[in-house]
Amino acid sequence: MNLPATPQSWANRLTKILSLHQAAHGLPRFPVDVAALAQDFSRQVFPDAPITMVGGLNLSKGVEGMLMPRPGGSGEWGIIYNETIRSVGRRNFTLAHELGHYLLHRRAHPGGLECTNRNMADWDEARNKIEGEANTFASYLLMPLDDFRAQIKGRVIDIDVMTELSDRYAVSLTAAILKWMTITDKRAMIVVGKEGFIDWAWSSEPLLKSGVFYRARQSVLELPAGSLAAQEVDGDSGRHGHQHPAGVWAGSEPVREMTVFSPGNEMSISLLLYPDRAPSRWELAELEEEPTLDTFDKFMSGNAG
Ligand SMILES: [Zn+2]
Repeated sequence: MNLPATPQSWANRLTKILSLHQAAHGLPRFPVDVAALAQDFSRQVFPDAPITMVGGLNLSKGVEGMLMPRPGGSGEWGIIYNETIRSVGRRNFTLAHELGHYLLHRRAHPGGLECTNRNMADWDEARNKIEGEANTFASYLLMPLDDFRAQIKGRVIDIDVMTELSDRYAVSLTAAILKWMTITDKRAMIVVGKEGFIDWAWSSEPLLKSGVFYRARQSVLELPAGSLAAQEVDGDSGRHGHQHPAGVWAGSEPVREMTVFSPGNEMSISLLLYPDRAPSRWELAELEEEPTLDTFDKFMSGNAG
């Protein structure tokens, strides 16, 4: 059997197997049971290196999961999530991420891999190749493109739709939003806030092309004071969202913000929707170069002199 070489082709291979298997046994197609899949598939296809342990361990803070060879050189592998993390969606995504490492990277990393919560948001394969690949694999395995597109067809995207999808696929809200962001033609951004600061942010391709993004990884940025995220509004107001005037969030346009908070408000996830059409260069110049009183004075005195 020819083995796939890319994260997407691996996910597509397993997606086909799962669709056939679940239909044949009259089982629901979603969410994907990663634990069963990892063990059954690896035993059949890699009998010398099967995954024989799937489960939770008490890992240190900040570690989301691990791919681990069984000590003693049996050739067996384990995929592990951090059991201190309670979210079913995060655990499931982590297992799929580690399965991706197993399929794509175990030969280059015979000692295994340890993945941080930051790695789970590392979608840029140019910056962090193997973490980006593991996330792409997990995303396509848990949320196959055809099904995802069918679910959102004709719907207005908001936090409730994204929550429904995160339930369907048993992934975190963040993972569902990131999936949508990679396929949408909308100008959108996800901003994850922590303790008053932007922890990380991601712009959809159309928004990125119009030059609107945050460099949160390179610099320390506070959440904008006028944002729902910074104001820690109540849950209903956050979900329902707010249409901000230009100047609250990045860029020079009005932005619709919908925000959910983690219990205790230590973390926020904001979905930002920008107008469909980016302002033209001409409009941007007008917006940004409105003369201040100072330049106006200079202009007048220049004219007079
Ligand atoms: Zn990883």
